[in-house]
Amino acid sequence: MRERLRQLVSIPSVSSVLEEYDQSNRPIVELLANWLEGLGFRVELQTADSKRGKLNLVACRGSGEGGLVLAGHTDTVPYEEGRWASNPFELAEDGDWLYGLGVSDMKGAFVAFFEAIERTMEFNWKHPLWVIATADEESGMSGVRTLLKRGMPKARFAVIGEPTSMRAVRMHKGVAVERIEIWGRSGHSSNPSQGANAIEAMRRVMNAITQFEKELATKYLRSEFHPPTITINFGFIRGGDNPNRIAPYSELGFDIRLLPGVEIAALREELLQRAKEAVKGMGVELQMASIAPAIPPFENSGTSVLVRAVEKLLGEAAGTASFATEAPFYELGGWDVVVLGPGEIESAHQPNERLSLTMLHRAVEVYASLITRFCIHGVDGG
Ligand SMILES: [Zn+2]
Repeated sequence: MRERLRQLVSIPSVSSVLEEYDQSNRPIVELLANWLEGLGFRVELQTADSKRGKLNLVACRGSGEGGLVLAGHTDTVPYEEGRWASNPFELAEDGDWLYGLGVSDMKGAFVAFFEAIERTMEFNWKHPLWVIATADEESGMSGVRTLLKRGMPKARFAVIGEPTSMRAVRMHKGVAVERIEIWGRSGHSSNPSQGANAIEAMRRVMNAITQFEKELATKYLRSEFHPPTITINFGFIRGGDNPNRIAPYSELGFDIRLLPGVEIAALREELLQRAKEAVKGMGVELQMASIAPAIPPFENSGTSVLVRAVEKLLGEAAGTASFATEAPFYELGGWDVVVLGPGEIESAHQPNERLSLTMLHRAVEVYASLITRFCIHGVDGG
């Protein structure tokens, strides 16, 4: 496992919405494809609808109905130069910890997938096993969106190896990232009524959004989530130029963290209407647009076959994650999905990202049990 992880970490696969950091994931996909072919998988590479022609990998071993999907993403976030104690592309080890960019999120999970596959290969698989590795999870999720658009494999159950410290996750919030722009009319500040102040207009919009957030909190409350309500965060604000000039322009960027069961489009529409209402009569123009495509909320039923199987294996109930994953897209494609992986989210997207060897071994055991359950015995235990 160390050798495989060393190789995966040594291949840079940064994805970013910022052009200067963004890299192709072809080299890492080709390495994964090689290993999978060596394990008897049929491998298909799919070009994702992404700027750099990045690739998704869909590999299958065995045939027939049912089976299991082990899924993950190939990309990492960019790293902060100078803030790492070791080279982010060289696997380092200290006691129980392995260090390197992506070890937790989520190259380590692939290594555990391979080990689990090798452990169960000597048995007769009656049902297929898929391994899916996507592009651009960290920068808009174009990989999984492409997969959903072009048709997902005919599978039923999928485990996504995102970093959950091996606790099962069956729900998380969705995210919509939005921008509101306001155009007013400049003028001399000595008489503000002679212009239309875009900053003053944005202040009213922000009040309206905060009021909306409060109302949403009384309407939707799910104690399983932390925080238990839909939240809206103001992330950036810009506008105006000079203190003695009426501000002709302002913009506000914010994100909305959605609870399951709340529809993004309807919520966006209502927010826009309230923003427009707030600036009515001011003589400004207001527009709202999504900065990135939204990620829907994810919720699998507590009674799903996969959730129950995983809970039985782990001996504890599946819960929530504070971060978004590709799970809602696989769910939209009709799969029964659980997020469960060896990395720790606390160290993901950070300098000195680390992975516990103990946790990695635990992941191998759990994945091997799931392969046994779904590919060797079958879902009905037959
Ligand atoms: Zn991840």
